[in-house]
Amino acid sequence: SVELRDIHVSFGTLEVLRGVDLKVPSASTTCVIGPSGSGKSTLLRCVNRLQEPDRGDLLLDGESVIKADPDVLRQRVGMVFQHFNLFPHRTVLDNIVLPLRSVRKLSKEDAAERARTRLAEVGLADKAPYRPAALSGGQQQRVAIARALAMEPEVMLFDEATSALDPELVKGILDLMAELAGRGLTLLVVTHEMGFARRVADEVAFMDGGRIVEHGTPDRIFDEPSSPRLQQFLSQVL
Ligand code: ATP
Ligand code: MG
Repeated sequence: SVELRDIHVSFGTLEVLRGVDLKVPSASTTCVIGPSGSGKSTLLRCVNRLQEPDRGDLLLDGESVIKADPDVLRQRVGMVFQHFNLFPHRTVLDNIVLPLRSVRKLSKEDAAERARTRLAEVGLADKAPYRPAALSGGQQQRVAIARALAMEPEVMLFDEATSALDPELVKGILDLMAELAGRGLTLLVVTHEMGFARRVADEVAFMDGGRIVEHGTPDRIFDEPSSPRLQQFLSQVL
């Protein structure tokens, strides 16, 4: 499981997270929805400590990791970004191999073997020698997912992983994410794809103004929203 307790983050006088509590049980998927600027990305970044909270605790499998070595934490918590964040001057294969070498300390041969396996899993075995720019957006995002999976994380974070993709490429990535959810990974997914949230999430958290305003099953959140703020948000996005 991954658990955030009373997480606070401010940038100067701007309070971006104002006491967030959230628990994602092991092998389950939680989707975070909410308006732009509500703090969704900041929340996700706190989970692998790309953002250090001002206050609060972060637990993995019940154990506090708020003071753990961030590099060790990031082996357990993988992240996939909207804009893929691949190394542009490296081949697709090297994009996966290099972190396995530097972080996981694998030999060249073991890293390459693991990378090729992961690439094959996302249907891109033949793209290994290319630079990322030679791939479509959907393919680049698959490489980013393969790179994160290669680290064998317990938790995967997705921050609007399909928002930069052409519409016809979105479904393939959502299907891949749904497959990961089915495989027993623990997923925390920030998304605008309400269909995905309803279909795949075990729980949905609605954020507004740096707080989780409502949290529940997809049926509860989408069919019986209780706060006016969530009702208004859903009326705009559904
Ligand atoms: P979106 O849906 O547009 O991605 P979001 O819910 O992910 O929005 P965040 O990116 O978490 O929102 O940002 C929340 C607020 O914090 C915004 O007002 C943003 O401008 C501010 N913010 C985020 N990062 C920083 C930073 N490094 N320095 C200053 N302000 C920041
Ligand atoms: Mg964001």
